[in-house]
Amino acid sequence: MDTNRNCKRCGERFVGRSDKIFCCDSCRNDYHNSLRRERNKGMNRVNGILSRNREIIRSLLSKGIESIDARELSMLAFDFDHFTSVDKRILGRTCYHIYEYYYYSANGEVHFSLKE
Ligand SMILES: [Zn+2]
Repeated sequence: MDTNRNCKRCGERFVGRSDKIFCCDSCRNDYHNSLRRERNKGMNRVNGILSRNREIIRSLLSKGIESIDARELSMLAFDFDHFTSVDKRILGRTCYHIYEYYYYSANGEVHFSLKE
């Protein structure tokens, strides 16, 4: 049975099946997209930082640059607080992984490599 009610998204009055809560597909999609955006906000922020770090390393390696002064790397907006994992595999050095890349610091220089 059709009933008259207000759309949960836009508040417009509409007529439809009693279990219908949105006036149209667009309102239903907008509503669920905004819930998902809100739910994923923190994750998206971290993913953005990791993605930027990865792109910085990828770009440097593509220019043949395998190490860089840590301060220069900071100036490129590299964020040392975010990485995908960490280990001490290479000569007892702490290696930080960013997806398929890793880096470690030695004497103020940061060395990068692509994982094998
Ligand atoms: Zn609506």
